[in-house]
Amino acid sequence: MTVATQHADDLARRVAGQRTAFIVEGAVDAATRRARLQQVIDLLVAWHEPLAEAMGEDFGGRHPGFSLMNDILGSLGSLKHVRDHLEQWMQPDPRPPFSPYDQLGAEAWVMHQPKGSVGIIGTWNAPVFTLLSPLACVLGAGNRAILKPSEIAPRTAEVLAKAFAERIDPEVVDVVIGGVEVGAAFAAQPFDHLVFTGSTQVGRKIMAAAAENLVPVTLELGGKSPTILGRSADLDVATYRIALAKSTNGGQLCISPDLLYVPQERLEESLDKLKRAFAGLYPGIADNHDMTPVINEAHLARIEGYIEEVRQAGGRIEMTPEEPQPPQDGSRRRALHLIVDPPRESRILQEEIFGPVLVVLPYESMDEVVADINGRSRPLALYYFGEDAAEQRQVLENTLSGGVTLNDALMHAAMHDAPFGGVGASGMGHYHGLEGFREFSHARTVFKAPQYDPRAEWGMTPPYGEHFLAAIKGQIVPD
Ligand code: NAD
Repeated sequence: MTVATQHADDLARRVAGQRTAFIVEGAVDAATRRARLQQVIDLLVAWHEPLAEAMGEDFGGRHPGFSLMNDILGSLGSLKHVRDHLEQWMQPDPRPPFSPYDQLGAEAWVMHQPKGSVGIIGTWNAPVFTLLSPLACVLGAGNRAILKPSEIAPRTAEVLAKAFAERIDPEVVDVVIGGVEVGAAFAAQPFDHLVFTGSTQVGRKIMAAAAENLVPVTLELGGKSPTILGRSADLDVATYRIALAKSTNGGQLCISPDLLYVPQERLEESLDKLKRAFAGLYPGIADNHDMTPVINEAHLARIEGYIEEVRQAGGRIEMTPEEPQPPQDGSRRRALHLIVDPPRESRILQEEIFGPVLVVLPYESMDEVVADINGRSRPLALYYFGEDAAEQRQVLENTLSGGVTLNDALMHAAMHDAPFGGVGASGMGHYHGLEGFREFSHARTVFKAPQYDPRAEWGMTPPYGEHFLAAIKGQIVPD
């Protein structure tokens, strides 16, 4: 038996175990759902320190405060929000039956039922959040789940697996460890739903694998999130907030600002303020434990490759803080590189950066910015800075992105009570809030017929009488 077959067999056994347990259990009441969410909450509270330590090691020095804020508090927020709202979301949703049945005593409603066993594949950049934040809605909707953490954050994956094995029945939530091979076998399982967070490229493979079993997918992908500095923006506030957002997790967030559009005449001032804002947050790089390093050498080489390509083409590159690269501490921490108006064919204009680099594109008119955004794949996030209400409306109504933050960046993703997800190449489906609960539920319409059935009396049943056709035709009207 090959290793791949072993993985597939082991996974098939685990998925089948969860599905059988799901069927045997029957209806999953609100108290059971709340108890399961509470178990995960308690697990995070008990294991937050080993998890933050593991994330620190995986990144080669990520601040524990940041890991706790982003991954632990972020997940706890989602879990608690679902725990406290699921009963209200579970209520049957009454719908008016059609005429004339509405007059005859018919009833109709939509019930939201769990689907069964849900697979959740996570990333390394937010290695706990990308698993446990969707898990909140998955459990809240009454499902069971199997988690597949990223192999690029192996210590976090191990600690998570240990914590779940210690505290939670694997027939409710299981954790599978492994790399691409396990990921591929995982995506090929007949789950009742599959959640994938990761790159657009791998997302395509996941969707193809899921299609074999007609497994519905939620794809949380990435992209090049545009950030627009309007002419009416307060430049000091905007550049500070952009610098802060871009530095978060070393630029390794799916919603990191990627392309920054700046009014032509304010380019130099904006660059200057951005550099100063960033250097104010990170006065030095070497031994600066507030700064998250690039996750590994392969990603560092990828990012440095983008910069080098622009350098070789004679493009403009600014750096902040200006300190020798690589830093003397031998870490993978890097200065923020601002790539100003690079040659059109540069890879950095096409591929998601996912690191401490920002592309700055000067513009003359907002029409030009909107056209450039619409000429690209649909992004996961879009940011607009400015006080011009008409311009804000122009941007919002003429572009499409997963979500939007106005006059700041990243914020919309922290909304536990609003859907988070992409559109087009940045993904499909949502988690968080009511929309997340519905994503992992089956919306089942129930129609309860009245006792009295008038159809035969009205000549609507076979054998059709002479008036049947005329009666039907008489209803084909435009209003
Ligand atoms: P990735 O696509 O390389 O990997 C994600 C997961 O898929 C990992 O667990 C990996 O083991 C698995 N995988 C890799 N190849 C596979 C295959 N062929 N079949 C099945 N599984 C496979 O992504 P990454 O590098 O871990 O994360 C970075 C990407 O994720 C960026 O594009 C980023 O924008 C995106 N992201 C999106 C969100 C979001 O919520 N939308 C959040 C975080 C990251």
